[in-house]
Amino acid sequence: MSFKAVAAAALALLLAGAIVLYYYAGQEPGPLVKIEKPAAIGGGPVPLDVTVDSVGTTLRRLEVSVEQQGRVFTLFSLDAPGEARFVQETAHRIRVTQESPAGALTGLRDGSARLVVTASRDVLYGIRRAEAVETRELAVRLTPPKLAIVSMHHYVNLGGAEMVVYRVTPADAASGVQVGNRYYPGYPAAGAAGSLAPGAPPVDPALRVAFFALLHDDDISTRVRLVARDPAGNAASAEFAYRAFPAEFARRRLPVTDAFFKRVVPPILEATPALTLPVGTPEERLEAFLRINGDLRRANQAQIEDLARVTSPEMLWRGTFARMGRAKSEALFADHRTYVFEGRDIDQQVHLGADLASTRGAAITASNTGHVVFAGFLGIYGNCVVLDHGMGVQSLYAHLSSVTVEAGDRINRRETIGRSGDTGLAGGDHLHFTMLVAGRPVNPIEWWDPHWIADRVDRKLVEAGIMSASAATKAPVVTPPAKKKAPARAKAKPAAPKKKAPAKKR
Ligand SMILES: [Zn+2]
Repeated sequence: MSFKAVAAAALALLLAGAIVLYYYAGQEPGPLVKIEKPAAIGGGPVPLDVTVDSVGTTLRRLEVSVEQQGRVFTLFSLDAPGEARFVQETAHRIRVTQESPAGALTGLRDGSARLVVTASRDVLYGIRRAEAVETRELAVRLTPPKLAIVSMHHYVNLGGAEMVVYRVTPADAASGVQVGNRYYPGYPAAGAAGSLAPGAPPVDPALRVAFFALLHDDDISTRVRLVARDPAGNAASAEFAYRAFPAEFARRRLPVTDAFFKRVVPPILEATPALTLPVGTPEERLEAFLRINGDLRRANQAQIEDLARVTSPEMLWRGTFARMGRAKSEALFADHRTYVFEGRDIDQQVHLGADLASTRGAAITASNTGHVVFAGFLGIYGNCVVLDHGMGVQSLYAHLSSVTVEAGDRINRRETIGRSGDTGLAGGDHLHFTMLVAGRPVNPIEWWDPHWIADRVDRKLVEAGIMSASAATKAPVVTPPAKKKAPARAKAKPAAPKKKAPAKKR
């Protein structure tokens, strides 16, 4: 074989090898693409959050577009990244986030669309590129949700609660009542209907029920309104007529002694591993008491607020909440307390519950039907039970000597849950009781009152066709304290008619 022939054969072999390499390089996978956002497109800014891993080589191309009925809208391009932010998560993985202003995808219509992410990376020393295309179906919703109040006559006392019935569309929008910067979620009204009479029409799926509160330390003029947000991020709000009434809360000076610290501080610390403090001297006990009365009180409140997240969407309760029988009221809701030690003012706190005392170790019963969401030691509250009654309404029982229920138990109204005691920060055997709305303490006195339940809750459910009139709490409907001076937002309408209340648009 001549040299020429050998050279030609070698060249042919090389060429064949190159072709094979080139072919297989083309079969290599493209970059790994992960789409976090958007999950939907609304009328507001369009968020983008995409992670791309170029698997050991160089990323060459990254394009994000939205396609709808043959039209292509570019959302991002690596060639013109604009305001996008890049985070190098590993040597070859980058995360791209971007917030396109509202109207960035002008021309897009309500309906469905497809997010298309195209990425390519170098293979074969940059001679070839491997491409990946990742898509996601998106709902496009450019119209915000609609809200309309249904219930009438809303009166909220400082430190107290109130309820609204309203309508929200579309049905998958999250909605509720916004009181200043605090949000109170609404729940589908069907959850308040119980078992409907045979033949009764189903509850309108757009109807919602929301309990909300004007907390004891809220300003009386705090703005209260309905709010909604759909999965595409479109938000809406609606005003409704209500009146807010001020309330006077007592101020008390509460003497405390080292003997009291000696009794209450060590057991609380023992049951609270997160708080380790020395208690050998009176000064140390005073310091520990101040930490418990301040830091631990706030931590306990945060824990109680978390329990609202597991509330049932069903209204599990009916009628008034039962007050502890034959018990003397020892302290009212929202009493302001100044703690006095050896003639000095050492601390100030607000007492967010009602103290009720009867006999030592008295049976403590559930104020209404619900589920146990907490049963155990809870810092300043000692042995404590929290019952969930649904729709964000809960009741709390503190300082118990014994607890006879467990988290998850279903409890009927007046069923025994434990015995009274003096565990936690308690001066003596008593029950500390409070109602909670979305985890925030509210004045229990309202929930014990049949007039309040009949007018603020059941009347509105009956008027909205959610509750039958025969199931409503029987108490004369009281006229609101209209003579009291209050910053009226709107005049109260005449007594509500018995028929279904029409939705008011505002
Ligand atoms: Zn108390």
